[in-house]
Amino acid sequence: MKLEKMVRNVYPTLTPYTCQLADLPMEELKKALGKQEVIKLSFNENPLGPSPKAIAAMQKALLDLNYYPSSRGEAVMQRIAVKEGVQPGNVILSNGADDMILLVAQTFLEPEDEVIIPEITFVQYLASAHLMGAKPVLSPLKEDYSIDTQALLARITPKTKLIFLCNPNNPTGTIVSAQELKELLRQIPEEVLLVVDEAYHEYAAGGAGYRSAVEFVQQHKNVLVIRTFSKIYSLAAARIGYGIGHPGIIDAINHVRPPFNVNSIAQAGAFASLDDEEHVSESLRVNTEGKYMLYEAFEALGLKYVKSYGNFVFVDTGRDSNKLFDALAKRGIVVRILTGHGLSTSLRVSIGRPQDMKAFIEAFTEIIESE
Ligand SMILES: *Cc1c(COP(=O)(O)O)cnc(C)c1O
Repeated sequence: MKLEKMVRNVYPTLTPYTCQLADLPMEELKKALGKQEVIKLSFNENPLGPSPKAIAAMQKALLDLNYYPSSRGEAVMQRIAVKEGVQPGNVILSNGADDMILLVAQTFLEPEDEVIIPEITFVQYLASAHLMGAKPVLSPLKEDYSIDTQALLARITPKTKLIFLCNPNNPTGTIVSAQELKELLRQIPEEVLLVVDEAYHEYAAGGAGYRSAVEFVQQHKNVLVIRTFSKIYSLAAARIGYGIGHPGIIDAINHVRPPFNVNSIAQAGAFASLDDEEHVSESLRVNTEGKYMLYEAFEALGLKYVKSYGNFVFVDTGRDSNKLFDALAKRGIVVRILTGHGLSTSLRVSIGRPQDMKAFIEAFTEIIESE
């Protein structure tokens, strides 16, 4: 059997999702580290867990698992449309934001099309381009680790199909300002689709200079906003996300979307989550508290960090991040290294509960001071 003859030509560019320590789910982490308790700060998960209203709705939905779910997720779609001030025809659900990224690539990309992607950003954009045999064109960040919109524009050619913009940017936590976003949209050719991944929108909303791209989907036919219920709504394992865009874009993606890509448990949980504003505001409160604890600790250690619009903080430790990762893991704390992005001294630390932050700060400080 010659596997390389069986698989598609793009196969050598693809890599399976890794099973390194930072990528493991909680139970496997505990086993791997031989610990009863682990503080997991590697996935930007909401430490509070889902809204009690969502849990109740999901438990109720279990009783009807014999029935297929709503294909388009009608109820959630309507609810999102009302909340975002758009029409239901502007909304499409997906099996997490990752699925939306994949659907966009499958809908729009031909081999040899160019896809502009910032150099340090969420990895699935690159993976989706590779899957379709498209050509990723990387665009450098600015000195302050924010996405350089001018650099994105400068890379547009007649072959450009898509531009991926992560706002706020994972893993750096920076934003593209409302002004920069407006200017970017003004200059992008109509036939280039701008995909704005707003996985951390709810954390950034109200932050200085931040504006969602949703308000632009009415005037600009070539914008697709991606959101998720995995982050502030705390439904990461349920797998549900959504896109907001011009009805033409949404319809095109619906031609590609599998009919039942979002399960009924996820739909029930998402619907109920949207009605629990208290859970969102409590999550924001805990996040802000933890964020300032991290800032203070990094400042005390004299480390360079980036002010974050998300639920994680990017820090340049100035030393081998692999060693820091190992030393933290030994103490039962797991963070994210960024060596895959070519950053050998930086870490991304998810914001946990205040007690998680306290434990991280104590361990981290001890490790650095004992060098
Ligand atoms: C977490 C994350 C996603 C993936 O979200 P899912 O809905 O869980 O697939 C997508 N984009 C960014 C920027 C993220 O950080």
